[in-house]
Amino acid sequence: MTAEIIDGRKTAQEIRSQLKQAVAGFSDSPKLAVVLVGRDEASVIYVRNKEKAAAEVGIGTDVYRLAEDVSEKQVLQLIDRLNEDVAVNGIIVQLPLPAHLNVGRIIGRISPLKDVDGFHPYNTGLLQNNEKPYFVAATPLGVLKLIHQVCPVLSGKNVVLIGASLIVGRPLATLLLNQECTVSITHVHTQNIKNLTQNADIIVAACGVARMVKKDWIKPEAVLIDVGINRENGRICGDVDFDDEIEKAAAVTPVPGGVGPMTIAMLLKNTVDAYKLQHNI
Ligand code: NAD
Repeated sequence: MTAEIIDGRKTAQEIRSQLKQAVAGFSDSPKLAVVLVGRDEASVIYVRNKEKAAAEVGIGTDVYRLAEDVSEKQVLQLIDRLNEDVAVNGIIVQLPLPAHLNVGRIIGRISPLKDVDGFHPYNTGLLQNNEKPYFVAATPLGVLKLIHQVCPVLSGKNVVLIGASLIVGRPLATLLLNQECTVSITHVHTQNIKNLTQNADIIVAACGVARMVKKDWIKPEAVLIDVGINRENGRICGDVDFDDEIEKAAAVTPVPGGVGPMTIAMLLKNTVDAYKLQHNI
């Protein structure tokens, strides 16, 4: 048996087509404001990809490129302005930020109604309370959608997450807990992660360690979701040793072509949802 390949690219394309149709029916284009501080190479590429993907579905993007040494006060003033601008539906601040800027204060200044990255404590707090936030972070949302494709009933499933970051592991743990999964959250200080993953129905690897999850880490017929993006010998690979697992797992996401395209699609969906929310549609 070979594992089912969970095609994130195809699902993301379907979502984008639906969004394009919805946007075509709006009286004007939804607008996403992106705050980009400095010239971090990966961030510049991510922002360019978001702009391109947004344009394809009819979402306008304004990118605010700020100097590496911009003061926190200036960033906060920009966010205040974007919060008040009725033409702006969604606001994201591309992370990471330079060390002199306080991420919590900056994200906390975005209006929760425009927080399409879903990082604002108001939105994460509602998620924690198992209530409906305005927005949930794009990567965990995309991961949940891919899991649902191969595992429609999640209640009672044993899930192990590798990685506990604020943007992936933690919100995903909450989403899965809210779906009645039993969730183990592991991180760089967890001892013997393999002991946990060997009993998992679903493993989500989001630690940024190339090919860490091997065949002997999983039980037969496990579902593997690979969030990692690593460069190895000039090629991109995930945190799961894809070639090693392919015969043992029930389903696995490829890297590239799995979670990555879903992240962008869900950010676009959040932006369209923000437009609808602000226009009472
Ligand atoms: P992060 O650095 O903020 O967090 C990494 C997490 O992994 C931490 O909790 C850390 O403790 C844990 N970790 C690190 N090494 C580990 C190890 N050896 N064993 C167990 N846990 C370990 O990273 P992040 O922003 O959450 O991103 C994680 C990975 O996912 C990166 O490769 C990143 O590029 C990728 N990513 C992909 C997408 C996507 O759309 N596909 C989105 C976000 C992040």
